[in-house]
Amino acid sequence: MIYLDHAATTPVYPEVIEEMMPYFDKKFGNPSGIYEFASENKEKIQRVRNIIAESIDASADEIYFTSGGTESDNWAVRGIAESMKSKGKHIITSAIEHHAILNTCDFLEKHGYEVTYLDVDDTGMISLEQLRKSIRKDTILISIMFANNEIGTIEPIREIGEIAAEHNIYFHTDAVQAYMHVPVNVNDMKIDLMSASSHKFGGPKGVGFLYIRDGINIANLMYGGGQESGKRAGTENVAGIIGMGKAVELAGNSMVRDNIYIRNMREYLYYRITSEIPYVRLNGSRTERLSGNLNISFKYIEGESLLIMLDMEGICASAGSACTAGSKESSYVLKAIGVPEEFAKGSLRITLGTDNTMNDMDIVFEKINYIVNTLREFSDEYVNLRVI
Ligand code: PLP
Repeated sequence: MIYLDHAATTPVYPEVIEEMMPYFDKKFGNPSGIYEFASENKEKIQRVRNIIAESIDASADEIYFTSGGTESDNWAVRGIAESMKSKGKHIITSAIEHHAILNTCDFLEKHGYEVTYLDVDDTGMISLEQLRKSIRKDTILISIMFANNEIGTIEPIREIGEIAAEHNIYFHTDAVQAYMHVPVNVNDMKIDLMSASSHKFGGPKGVGFLYIRDGINIANLMYGGGQESGKRAGTENVAGIIGMGKAVELAGNSMVRDNIYIRNMREYLYYRITSEIPYVRLNGSRTERLSGNLNISFKYIEGESLLIMLDMEGICASAGSACTAGSKESSYVLKAIGVPEEFAKGSLRITLGTDNTMNDMDIVFEKINYIVNTLREFSDEYVNLRVI
């Protein structure tokens, strides 16, 4: 199998699994217990809080463990909407956010909030000018993703942070695809809230965190016990948190090296596809892009058929995000960046990781080339082109 869907999820580092294992049997104590067997686990969790805080230039008490990206996004947006409603009910986000943000905004719109969805240009970048113009007296939150999950575009986070700070508006960023793949500094970038998810960087699924800048008043998403300073109730996912901490250490230490390794493979595959297969286009930015992301469209084919045939060859890739996979609709992100329908329906998202090799890229290219050529034989439009 060649796995090319690292934006959907990543394999867990063996060292992470090893680190987690004792917490299922030998060290199973509930961190809230007062005896040493349990309180040791509280200390371990605290250590992870420190590791994460250090990785983004925050302090440990600004890190709140959650069940992952979706919960962190929901909490950030709904929590601020609730706590700030006396100031206003206007939120600014972008048209290409993950559904964890878009559907949360949709929910809020049904409950009296107004949401402005910023457009993006043909590379997926928001306009700072439009952001400035969209700010109102009653704007309480700007939520713009750090990097897009489908096309890999990295947004101008520092500039957005500046604008938000100038206007005294909270800035949340969904950094699920970016954290541990690009450097993040919440102070330099003036980020007030940030979502991250462990399974996108070699950690286990079902665990993540929300960074909340000290002093921000945010309503709870869940009520219950006093865990996470009373802000996020529920017995901690001890093994998951420990695993996430180990993944942060490992991914953080090798981030620069991994990016070079992954980008070289991506560029090689991109070069071979665009130079050897006609009627192809790259979706997203050529430069402001996550290293591992290659989103490419082939005219005269259906992306769905390409994916199925790649799967039969043992190659796992995707058309858009995992969440929209299976729906016949072409991706809302590709629509937002203006990809013509005849290209959008033949799109392929390849997201690389350190478990891939240059040799994989040659195999993948050969398979794609063969399948695209085969599928095009079923397109009257394509066959007619040749006749002419
Ligand atoms: N936000 C973005 C940008 C994502 O790519 C994802 C997952 O694909 C999520 C949020 C949701 O994260 P999780 O799977 O941890 O709930």
